[in-house]
Amino acid sequence: MNTDLVVVGSGLFGLTVAERAARELGLKVTMIDRRPHLGGNAYSENEERTGIEVHRYGAHLFHTSNERVWEYVNRFTQFTNYVHRVYTRHQGEVYPMPINLGTINQFFRAAYSPGEARELIREQAGELAGTDPQNLNDKGIQLIGRPLYEAFIKHYTGKQWQTDPKDLPASIISRLPVRYTYDNRYFNDTHEGLPVDGYTAWLERMADHPNIDVRLETDFFDDSQEFSKDNVVGQVPVVYTGPVDRYFDYAEGDLSWRTIDLEEEVLDIEDFQGTSVMNYPDEDVPFTRIHEFRHFHPERDYTRDATVIMREFSRFAEKGDEPYYPVNTSEDREKLLAYRDLANGESSVLFGGRLGTYKYLDMHMAIGSALSMVDNKIAPHFTSGAPLTSGGVDA
Ligand code: FAD
Ligand code: UDP
Repeated sequence: MNTDLVVVGSGLFGLTVAERAARELGLKVTMIDRRPHLGGNAYSENEERTGIEVHRYGAHLFHTSNERVWEYVNRFTQFTNYVHRVYTRHQGEVYPMPINLGTINQFFRAAYSPGEARELIREQAGELAGTDPQNLNDKGIQLIGRPLYEAFIKHYTGKQWQTDPKDLPASIISRLPVRYTYDNRYFNDTHEGLPVDGYTAWLERMADHPNIDVRLETDFFDDSQEFSKDNVVGQVPVVYTGPVDRYFDYAEGDLSWRTIDLEEEVLDIEDFQGTSVMNYPDEDVPFTRIHEFRHFHPERDYTRDATVIMREFSRFAEKGDEPYYPVNTSEDREKLLAYRDLANGESSVLFGGRLGTYKYLDMHMAIGSALSMVDNKIAPHFTSGAPLTSGGVDA
């Protein structure tokens, strides 16, 4: 087999490993993906009629405070100065999101100062004062009090995860900032922006190296192809970024994932909602949010005759669906521990990325974790013969 390393999956984790292994370590890399394109879920393409860039697997916003990751991604693309802001439409009224002083004052029809708003939320969250909530429901109430939680979080989360918020980890909601100022930026990170000439141009540049052989429409579990699991494991080191349960043929049971159905529509108007993302937190609306892609690139000269919108519906993934988000219930966490043990026993196979570690990873986290895997596992193996045992799943 004329390759030094097989990378399964060409998402940002696989791309980062492949790029570093080829450019920095001089290895010959074969990267396979079962999809007809590279880039994983960050892939985008221009909608045919309008030319508007559409993120095929749901809207992707790049943001990071990790200087190493920022320097690394800037080798492959420049970023626009886009700053993400989200609005949410509750009972016929539009509020700024994440919850900030503007949201609080609009919701309570008030003009509270930051101190007054804090005091109000403290009272409303009083039922959970002094506790350390481990589940999303209690954490949400503790952060913003019950009335705001019930308006903006409870049903949105219910629709998005189809799991009782009491069974979801508190960490999901901790991702969303709550601010006692009028700052309505969605992210707190130092760096933020969108790739100037689109995600796909960025992702393709990462793989553009003579030592990287990309094979699309190639499934790791298809034994008829050269780089299948049966053909390569034990022969060549492998970095696997597909679902960890699938790798072990679901031996410890299925991990639960959430998938999303994206309904795209081209409308013959210039502007549908005046912003890139509108959330729908009410129970009687079946989708969670609507994206309008033209607003991600106000600097581009898009047509004024039409716009592209995408409604996002969330549901549990069945076999055959794309596994997007780990649900991560306590049962899942037990199964994951069992899979980690199995992964520890798998020599010369490293597990990484959102699917391979069953972790909610943003793009910058997937890239950062891939850079660490190269530093800590792959480089020592190829430069000084350190054994390539993962120490399990990259945890
Ligand atoms: P992926 O991109 O999922 O890549 C895995 C690849 O493995 C896929 O291409 C898949 O086809 C391939 N694969 C799987 N099984 C096999 C197999 N058997 N054989 C061959 N190939 C296989 N991050 C942000 O930073 N900002 C955002 O706004 C954001 N929004 C998101 C919205 C959605 C709906 C989703 C799902 C994710 C979002 N993310 C966002 C996260 C971002 O997509 C991930 O961080 C990133 O994709 C992680 O890269 P990865 O390589 O781990 O996984
Ligand atoms: N969330 C919510 N209401 C909102 C936005 C977010 O309840 O209007 C909760 C929901 O549980 C979601 C989590 O906050 O899963 C994280 O939101 P984020 O927008 O980061 O989710 P993602 O874009 O990754 O799906």
